[in-house]
Amino acid sequence: MSINARKDSPQQTEFRQYCQDWLADNHPGEPPVRLPLTALEIMTEDQLNYLQAWQKSAYDAGLIGCDYPVDVGGGGRTDCQRVANAEMIAAKTPFLPNIIGLGMAAPTVLYHASDELKQRLLPRLFSGEDIWCQGFSEPEAGSDLASVQTFAERKGDKWVINGHKVWTSLAHFAEWMILLLRTDKSQKHDGLSYFVVPIRAALGSGVTVRPLIKITGETGFNEVIFDNLEVDDSLRLDEVGKGWQVAMTTLLHERGAGELQTPRSGGLKSKSSHATNAAGLLALARKTQRGSKPASEDPLFRDKLMRQVIREEALKQNQRRAQVPALLDHPMRLALQNKLLSSEIFQDTAALAVEVTGASGSLYLGDENAPAGGQWHMSYMNSYGMTIAAGTSEVQRNILGERVLGMPKSK
Ligand SMILES: Cc1cc2nc3c(=O)[nH]c(=O)nc-3n(C[C@H](O)[C@H](O)[C@H](O)COP(=O)(O)OP(=O)(O)OC[C@H]3O[C@@H](n4cnc5c(N)ncnc54)[C@H](O)[C@@H]3O)c2cc1C
Repeated sequence: MSINARKDSPQQTEFRQYCQDWLADNHPGEPPVRLPLTALEIMTEDQLNYLQAWQKSAYDAGLIGCDYPVDVGGGGRTDCQRVANAEMIAAKTPFLPNIIGLGMAAPTVLYHASDELKQRLLPRLFSGEDIWCQGFSEPEAGSDLASVQTFAERKGDKWVINGHKVWTSLAHFAEWMILLLRTDKSQKHDGLSYFVVPIRAALGSGVTVRPLIKITGETGFNEVIFDNLEVDDSLRLDEVGKGWQVAMTTLLHERGAGELQTPRSGGLKSKSSHATNAAGLLALARKTQRGSKPASEDPLFRDKLMRQVIREEALKQNQRRAQVPALLDHPMRLALQNKLLSSEIFQDTAALAVEVTGASGSLYLGDENAPAGGQWHMSYMNSYGMTIAAGTSEVQRNILGERVLGMPKSK
C-alpha cells in the first residue's frame, strides 16, 4: 500500500516531466530585489510586481490551479498540484504572492460560491492579478473567532458593513477580501455570514486600510475599517447565517487539512538568502568563531544543534506519513501536527542561530557586519508570528487533544 501510494499515476508522470521541462526553460532566476521571508511580509511594489509576474507565468503554464475544474480557470487534472509543488520546490522558484487567495479563498469560493462568482473570481486569483486577503480577526475576536462583531445590516439587495478587522495580511495590496461578518446579533455561530468584498475598489469610500508595522520593520499586516460600506447580496457565499460553516472550509485549508492542495513554490528569497533551517544553522555554526574555535565544535552548541537537526528530520519523516493512506486515521491530524511543530521548530532554530552568533547576532539587515546579512535576525523576529497566525500553538494543541485524540474539553 505505502509503495503504491507514493507512485505517480500515468497522468502525474507525464505532468511531472512537463513541469520539469517548463521550469528548466522558464526559471525566473535571481530576483532583482530583496524578497521578504514569506508572502505575508511583501512591502514594496517592486517585490509585488516581480512575484506577481512569476505567479502569472506559472499559472499560464498550468502549474497553478491544476486540480480545479477547467470552467473556473483550473487545469482540470487530478491530484497534480502536489506534483507541480514538488517540482517548483526542487527548482527553487520564487514564492507565490497570492498565498491567501490560493490557500484559503480559492477552495472556499469553489465550494460555496455561485457558478457566476467562481468564473469571475478564480482565474484572476490563480494568475495573481487579483491579490486576496482574509478579514477574520478583530480586536476582540482572534482564537475565539465566533465572537466577530463587524456587522452587516441588510438593506434590500445590499448589505451595509460597519466594523474593524485587524492583522489583515496583504490588505495593503489586496483587490479582494474574504470577510466573516455578523448578520444577527442575537446568535453566536448562527449569526455569522460570509462575503467576498472588492476592498481596493472601495478604498476611501467605505474602506480604510491602515498598515501595522511589525517588529521587523515590515508592513505585513493591516487594520481594515469598514464605514457604511455597501456590498451587493450576490457577493455572499452560502446562506445567511451559514458563515461559520463556510469559515470552517477556509480554516481547514489554512491549516493544511483541506481537500485541495495549496500551490506552493520554492521560496527563493534573494541573492544573499540562506536556508533558515537546520542545515543553514549548521553552516552558520561552522563559520562562526566562538572563543578559539567554530561554534560547531563547542560541546554545548553541538548538543543544541543536533537537537534541531533531529527535530527537523523527525518532522520530515512525520510528513511522509501523509503518503501512506493507512496511517491517516484522522483527516486533520498530520496537518495540525505539521503546522504546530514546523512553526515551533523554526522558532527554536532561528533563536539558536542568533545565540550562536553572539553579540553580532543583534546586527540587522543593512549592516555590513551582520552575520548572514542579518537574515537570521529577521527570521527570529518573524518566527513568533508563525506560532500565532492560522491559530496559536495553544489552540492547535487544544484541537489536537479534543478533536483528534478525543480528550475531554478543557472548558
Ligand atoms: C503573521 C500573522 C498574520 C496574520 N494574518 C491574518 C490575516 O491575514 N487575517 C486575519 O483575519 N487574521 C490574521 N492574523 C491573526 C491571527 O489569526 C490571530 O492573531 C490568532 O488567531 C490569535 O488571535 P489573537 O491575536 O486575538 O490572540 P488571542 O485569541 O487573544 O490569544 C491570546 C493568547 O491566549 C491564548 N488562548 C486563547 N484562547 C485559548 C484557549 N481556548 N486555550 C488556550 N489558550 C488560549 C492564545 O494561544 C494566545 O497565547 C495574523 C496573525 C499573525 C501573527
